[in-house]
Amino acid sequence: MKIDFIQIYHVAMPLLYPWRTAYGDDYVIESVLVQMRSGGVMGWGEATPLASPNYSAEWAAGVYLLVRDWLAPRLIDQEIESAVQLQERLAGFKGNHFAKASLDSAWWDLQAKLTGAPLWMLLGGSSRTVVVGADFGVMDSIDALIEAVGGAVHSGFKRVKLKFRPQWDLEVVREVRSAFPELVLHVDCNSAYRLSDHKVFEALDPLGLAMIEQPLAHDDLLDHAKLQRMIQTPICLDESLVSPEKARKAIETGAARYFNIKPGRVGGVTRAVEIVKIAERAAIPCWIGGMLESAIGASHCLALATLANIKYPSDIFPSRRYFKKDLAYPELELSGRSQMTTSLAPGIGCSPDEELLAAQTLESAQIGKARL
Ligand code: MG
Repeated sequence: MKIDFIQIYHVAMPLLYPWRTAYGDDYVIESVLVQMRSGGVMGWGEATPLASPNYSAEWAAGVYLLVRDWLAPRLIDQEIESAVQLQERLAGFKGNHFAKASLDSAWWDLQAKLTGAPLWMLLGGSSRTVVVGADFGVMDSIDALIEAVGGAVHSGFKRVKLKFRPQWDLEVVREVRSAFPELVLHVDCNSAYRLSDHKVFEALDPLGLAMIEQPLAHDDLLDHAKLQRMIQTPICLDESLVSPEKARKAIETGAARYFNIKPGRVGGVTRAVEIVKIAERAAIPCWIGGMLESAIGASHCLALATLANIKYPSDIFPSRRYFKKDLAYPELELSGRSQMTTSLAPGIGCSPDEELLAAQTLESAQIGKARL
């Protein structure tokens, strides 16, 4: 396909309540949406590393500028016949995986629409129905958390994930475990600890957690491997897993027994699929994580979650869990207890609500000539 036109949007999507993690509190999700056109057909992509460079070295305003000034100009008026070709055209720019992912995911939606296929089918997904979990950030009290977890259990969620940070760690998990002895439960540390904190993780072993997500530094593998040898609970990598190469090294060093794959963090849908396959060959089960994207980004995640090696409930949420109204429609909803179902429409199956997109856009830029 020839890429005729790219429009980039830096948006701010207000949350219903703050999202509190080891990185701080977010009240809005700043995100970058990309519209890519070829011959009158339009695809949408999204990537958000959030507003500040805390989750990774990237941040939404930086992603916007990089896509506008460096990445999109490398694609405009070019014939891009495969996702691998798109990745190769961007490979000269170091890192900046979220920025690359915004374009890569738009290309996949566009490609799926050009071929008339739903994205999940184009990616080789095995089933339209995806198992999703419930996720709870730091709350005002343990009682409030236990009530919220109880609500998720009552609604039929098959696993619950808790944020875990100093002052909101062992005691919280012990209380939740004691209230819900059978629940599939795991914690996400968002890289808030160091290897010298290993006693915290040894103390988690008797609590029967499904996994401990990213306990140590955001770019570490070796200390994770050392920690994994000290504890029984499987470690899952999130922040550290930024590329297929890192996935291979994580497997070789024994740094993790699960992978959380976020298309933004790894540079797009193309590389996410590659990592899922690398993991499958090493018998490492995966699941898909999210960054509280709009339904655009979450629908790409949903398509990825249909792959056969996604074997643990993913972090993909109904739109109304975090937003009063989603920037895109149709909004994502649960299709059953702890499950969501991908669209049968060509592409990702949703597109922005134009009015809401205009209202939530902070800045926007066009590359190339619109030919619709
Ligand atoms: Mg995580």
